[in-house]
Amino acid sequence: MIEIKGLNKAFGEKRVLKDISVTIKEGELFSVIGPSGIGKSTFIKCLIRLLRPDSGQIVVDGQDIASTRSEFTLAKVRRSFGYLFQEGALFDSLTVLENVAFGLKYLTDIPKSEFPKIVKAKLALVGLKDVENLKPSELSVGMKKRVSLARSIAAEPKYILYDEPTTGLDPVTTGMVKDLITDMRAKLGITSVVVTHDMKLALDISSRVAMLSKGEFVEVSEPDKFRLSANAEVREFMRISHLSRVRQNQND
Ligand code: ADP
Ligand code: MG
Repeated sequence: MIEIKGLNKAFGEKRVLKDISVTIKEGELFSVIGPSGIGKSTFIKCLIRLLRPDSGQIVVDGQDIASTRSEFTLAKVRRSFGYLFQEGALFDSLTVLENVAFGLKYLTDIPKSEFPKIVKAKLALVGLKDVENLKPSELSVGMKKRVSLARSIAAEPKYILYDEPTTGLDPVTTGMVKDLITDMRAKLGITSVVVTHDMKLALDISSRVAMLSKGEFVEVSEPDKFRLSANAEVREFMRISHLSRVRQNQND
């Protein structure tokens, strides 16, 4: 469980997150939606202290990491997280095996001799086989996403953070990533936090959706309720999302 209490984060004069409080429950798939530049990445980075909140608490399984000075506590809590970066960020010079094993090497005490077996199993979970010796440059965009995801889950995290998992992907790959995120939750029971500007994605896969606007969550609810929100900003964002999809289709 991740309990966020009174989270504040500013960059200079700009208050990006204002007194945010929300609890992400075990097994949830919690999405944060909002336009570009609103503070979604800032939010997700605060959860693992890649950014240090100005004030507030981030209590992960009972440990507050928002202001802890203990590197030991931070390292321990971070170990329970997988992080899927927007770009995938695979190491080009390493093979798929080495990429997926990366976290095992640095985050666990698992002996190196076990890596191939574990990597094979994680790759199978994301639907890949016999790719261990390939380099990222030999993979399609969709395969790279799968490998990135295999790397994020290699050390068996309790939580996964996805930052814009479908941005820049074609519709087929987007559908595939969507299934993967849903699968990870169903197969591994991983608690997931997704930040995205893709309203459809959020409504399709989440247990709850939070809309970030002007530093606050203006609506936090289950997709069915979210769709019916009376909040003006939610309605506007849904309208825009819908319109842009219609326009895209017309241009096809
Ligand atoms: P989103 O992920 O929703 O697109 P971000 O969380 O990346 O938005 O950014 C929110 C706002 O904070 C933006 O205006 C961005 O320019 C600003 N910002 C983000 N990171 C930094 C930083 N390290 N220093 C200064 N400003 C930042
Ligand atoms: Mg972002």
